[in-house]
Amino acid sequence: MEKVKNSVQELMELDKKYFLHPTSPIKQQQDQGPSFIFTEGKGVMLTDILGNTVIDGMSSLWNVNVGHGREELGKVAMEQMSKLAFSSCFATYSNEPAIRLAAKLAEIAPGNLNATFFTSGGSEANDTAYKLARHYWILKGQPNRKKIISRTKSYHGVAMGSTNATGLKPFREFTNAFDPDFCYADHFSSEDLRRVIEAEGPETIAAFIAEPVQGAGGLHVAPDDYFKEVKSICNEYGILLITDEVITGFGRTGKYFGIEHYGVVPDMMCFAKGITSGYAQLGGVMLSETIHQDYMELSTGTLLHGYTYSGHPMACAVALKNIELIEEEGLIANAEKMGAEMHKGFQWIEGERKIIGKVKGLGLMGGLELVKDRNTNEKFQNPVAPLVVTEAAKRGLICRSVVFDGQDTVVFAPPLIISKEEMAKMIDILHDAIAAVEAEVL
Ligand code: PLP
Repeated sequence: MEKVKNSVQELMELDKKYFLHPTSPIKQQQDQGPSFIFTEGKGVMLTDILGNTVIDGMSSLWNVNVGHGREELGKVAMEQMSKLAFSSCFATYSNEPAIRLAAKLAEIAPGNLNATFFTSGGSEANDTAYKLARHYWILKGQPNRKKIISRTKSYHGVAMGSTNATGLKPFREFTNAFDPDFCYADHFSSEDLRRVIEAEGPETIAAFIAEPVQGAGGLHVAPDDYFKEVKSICNEYGILLITDEVITGFGRTGKYFGIEHYGVVPDMMCFAKGITSGYAQLGGVMLSETIHQDYMELSTGTLLHGYTYSGHPMACAVALKNIELIEEEGLIANAEKMGAEMHKGFQWIEGERKIIGKVKGLGLMGGLELVKDRNTNEKFQNPVAPLVVTEAAKRGLICRSVVFDGQDTVVFAPPLIISKEEMAKMIDILHDAIAAVEAEVL
């Protein structure tokens, strides 16, 4: 035990001294070190270096769709690495896993989305989509179409383009990223999209990008007719519609892709995370057959955009196996079923506790808005969602708070393999955590 303690202490100190954490409070990390050092995962559970086990109510970063510890994926990665760990896809070179994955994506993606450009993650996928959209308009003889419209409360990642497209202001303020080629429409109003297009000049707009369900921005599910309306507005002004399925793809919402709930097919679709369930780094953009054909017909030069790891053989092999697991184990249907169970649990908590203002979600994406007074919708002066996250973690559940733009929301996205019993446990822990916070703040 003494030895374990020493090694934990050592790791804590090394972490504080040498590891600059992504999207983490800088001072807190410096002062306190990491809150968990995870060492193992199995199913919906994570275990830390001290032997504590917690339910991963966020699938880590909305991505571990098939759950932790899947040896099938490790085996495929090892086999592919032993055979061909890496080869380039530049200059028309190719490899079998990338080819087969692109073909599989064409089979499962909505409508006529059919050609894929691979990246290493979601931010790169979104930046790629903006660049492909802008190049598309150059090919079409409309080079002034450069602007990208996104939505308030959106999160599209942290590369320079995706940072600029992110509607959550703190992410842009962090580096003073206010590129005038990026503009924002209200996240729930298709009429506001029209207003922004008219104000900016339709002939200057390349594309509009939206998440089918906004996750990191506070779990916002668009109104039922929203996407049909924006698609028709985009068509009217000749603007490309890009959907960001980085979180909502690969079964998360109870359908293969989130946009399928809305009966709309985008011109481009970005994905990452769930395509490998986080077992390898992979993302990409799919183009509709129409856009792809235009590229083929109009382009005479080189596609001057590519990442070293575009079409990485090991990542693509893992993705193929991951998709096979999603299909064979019926995980999309389970996401729908367990999503309904989660929603029922949230509603039960809403009945038991006083600080739940709103219950939201689609499939296995869920959110609870917290309020001081649910009759008047008065908010707490200081958000209490972070307190719920802390209390839940103490009791064995990982979830996440969203406090941007005056929000006070706790969000959830458990793995798609979650069972009814595990969901019941998650709901129980959550209830107790909220009760503890309520006792403290009311
Ligand atoms: N788009 C959405 C909707 C996301 O939620 C995220 C990450 O959470 C990204 C893009 C960025 O993806 P990545 O972190 O893989 O770059």
